[in-house]
Amino acid sequence: MSETAIDIAIIGGGLVGASLAVALGPLIERHQLRVAVIEASELSASGAQPSFDERSSAIAYGSRAHFETMELWSQLATRAAPIHDIEVSQRGAMGRTHLSRRDAGTPSLGYVLPNAFLGRVLHERLADMAIDWHCPARVDRMTPEPDGHRLVLDSGQTLHAGLTVLADGGRSGLKASLGIATDRHDYEQHALIANVETAHAHEGWAFERFTDEGAMALLPLTQRRMALIWTRPPESIDATLAMSDDDFLLALQSRMGSRLGRFQRVGSRHVYALSMSRAREQSRPHLAVLGNAAHAIHPIAGQGFNLALRGVMDLNAAIEAALDAGRTPGEAATMADFEQRRQRDRDLIMQASDTLVRLFGLELPGISGVRGAALGLFNLATPLKRALIRRAMGLARH
Ligand SMILES: Cc1cc2nc3c(=O)[nH]c(=O)nc-3n(C[C@H](O)[C@H](O)[C@H](O)COP(=O)(O)OP(=O)(O)OC[C@H]3O[C@@H](n4cnc5c(N)ncnc54)[C@H](O)[C@@H]3O)c2cc1C
Repeated sequence: MSETAIDIAIIGGGLVGASLAVALGPLIERHQLRVAVIEASELSASGAQPSFDERSSAIAYGSRAHFETMELWSQLATRAAPIHDIEVSQRGAMGRTHLSRRDAGTPSLGYVLPNAFLGRVLHERLADMAIDWHCPARVDRMTPEPDGHRLVLDSGQTLHAGLTVLADGGRSGLKASLGIATDRHDYEQHALIANVETAHAHEGWAFERFTDEGAMALLPLTQRRMALIWTRPPESIDATLAMSDDDFLLALQSRMGSRLGRFQRVGSRHVYALSMSRAREQSRPHLAVLGNAAHAIHPIAGQGFNLALRGVMDLNAAIEAALDAGRTPGEAATMADFEQRRQRDRDLIMQASDTLVRLFGLELPGISGVRGAALGLFNLATPLKRALIRRAMGLARH
């Protein structure tokens, strides 16, 4: 079979790969770029596609601006639930902090969007774009060549790409086959996710609560529904999954209190093992690594996809700068520019989310008092609070 020459090949059409393809839209038109997206899973309304499962994602206010740039926000806004306030607390101890949109000076702190809806909107846009869409198709092999990579698909088709973007979620083995190692820290925790219905309206409040068994978050969805992320030690996750709905709701109530009234209903429950991982190389000449393939973090602060989306926008900006200067997307200078744009934000967010998980996971005598005092002080320290909120919202990166 003959080889097809491609300017940019994106391996993985999940949330991150699809976002990059959409963001590249204006450059594809302006520079007649040939872009291919290769996605292994067949897309279906059932949500079988890995990125577009039952989860909802907290979308930072700064990410809204990125979706506006992609001209997707007006569609996404129809299902986006705004977050107006966040309460962070620890179970059984004093000290809590309240983050508000007033502290940030924005109409909301962020939004919550169902992943399946976000995926559908992205893929509907891709269907209208002039890209080569290979789906279902898996990249089985990737071989470096002097001016790019040779990609062999499971259909036997071969592509030659000047720039290859690995957005495969990090599980395909392609990264390792290129000799890129990944550092991984297993948190020895699982996240159980489910949607719950509350008796009282949430009024845009999100709750993060640290308990002796792990962190919990409730994020507002449309109507009286909230998205629950409940992190638990591996040894108790099976029992939590096996609980009847009534017992599950009672257990949740005892941990989250009665602020939202009675928890009334719970949807299907799903479990994810949690780890932090980071590829030792995030780019090379002719290669960029994005999304979970580049870095995965604990979901408690809802930063993983937001961080990845900033990577998407930085890669798009580096490619645009290269094309405007008469360079090609994959050459070494373009990739060095991408890495320079990315490094600080990535290091800060990864470090901050890990510190948060470790600080609230520590069980030392008196530590809950220290955490309570820290939360209380943070609540009073308005400039610090504002600075931290704006960074978490993706509004203060550089
Ligand atoms: C419980 C939980 C809650 C989370 N909540 C939030 C949140 O609130 N806010 C937030 O910002 N982030 C959140 N995250 C993080 C977020 O979900 C991830 O950052 C995001 O899903 C990463 O998407 P991705 O496209 O990189 O990877 P994936 O979703 O894994 O997609 C990779 C795609 O590549 C395809 N693929 C794989 N191998 C190949 C191959 N060889 N050839 C072709 N295609 C291939 C797969 O089929 C898949 O579609 C959460 C994560 C978890 C676990």
